[in-house]
Amino acid sequence: MASDVGVCLGHYRELVKSGRYKASSREAAECLSLLFGRSIAVGEEVRLDELMPKPRAHRVYDSPLELLTAGWPTPLLKVSGPPKEAYAKLEWYNHFSASVKDRTVYYLLRSVEGERVVEVSSGNVAVALAAVGNVLGKKVKVYIPTAGRYVAPFLDFLGVEYQVLDVSMTVEALEHLQKDIREGAVHPNQFGNDMNFIAHLRTAAELDWQLSSVGRRPDYIIAGLGTSGHASALGFYFGVKYGTKLIGVQPRDWIPGIRRVETGMKWISLVEAEIVDVSLREALEGVREFARKTGLLIGPSAGAVYKAFTAQRHGGVYVLIFPDSLMKYALLLEQLR
Ligand code: PLP
Repeated sequence: MASDVGVCLGHYRELVKSGRYKASSREAAECLSLLFGRSIAVGEEVRLDELMPKPRAHRVYDSPLELLTAGWPTPLLKVSGPPKEAYAKLEWYNHFSASVKDRTVYYLLRSVEGERVVEVSSGNVAVALAAVGNVLGKKVKVYIPTAGRYVAPFLDFLGVEYQVLDVSMTVEALEHLQKDIREGAVHPNQFGNDMNFIAHLRTAAELDWQLSSVGRRPDYIIAGLGTSGHASALGFYFGVKYGTKLIGVQPRDWIPGIRRVETGMKWISLVEAEIVDVSLREALEGVREFARKTGLLIGPSAGAVYKAFTAQRHGGVYVLIFPDSLMKYALLLEQLR
């Protein structure tokens, strides 16, 4: 693709603002083709509506990939009423990794050519790549930092090759890929591949569609920061369309799946965001409070998002992104007891 999503942002901004956009240059056509997942010709006009989900009423699907895309939207649950009204996007209703990362991986894998794929991941991306890789017939290998070893049993069952490394952060594992890349494996690169950001413009369109059905526009979106892909794309789309503010959550110490902005992330600089710190203890308190209130077991980074929401003073409509559920973390929680 165009090596930097920056060149596409102007085109995406107009599309989001006016709901339709004519690809009047080759660059525009290329940017729109990436977002819409089909070839768009110069001169063709596209509509934002095309990105909205087309759910199957009876939930009958012909193939696993169809289960993913026609299974959208993931549920949006109202978790509190005015003056601080909040809607939680339950991303564990993605079927492969039971996380928001199915969306990223679906776009990443379509953007790379080659049968062998190598990536680093501390959890959800590893599972999503292994799973979607199986569906698409790709041979996947993943390197996992020590903290992500709780996903190893899932990778065993999915039958992919993996190696747990003695490093604490996922980005530190990147240098281990070089040998595989030299030997012909492709690296989708969730940290640098703009398809990560673009995938979540579609998530944003889906969320917009859901909120519109109940006559709501978000004043705030609260989301955790890992690669910053989902938070930045949602911040961009809703910022352009409604002036929504993004609140990005980073760990004060350590929370699986998210990290601190100063460790380097590509897309957060494309949007204005307020960054808040949440500790692991607070995140798990958030998980506990949410479970007592709703009966739903959300993952630690979702707990951090919920905790950041409860600390907010301003009234308005909030959207909280819950990337996954607690189920995958059983092994990890056992160690934290
Ligand atoms: N929460 C969990 C559980 C994750 O696995 C991730 C990313 O791996 C995130 C949050 C952050 O998502 P992103 O990489 O889009 O910033």
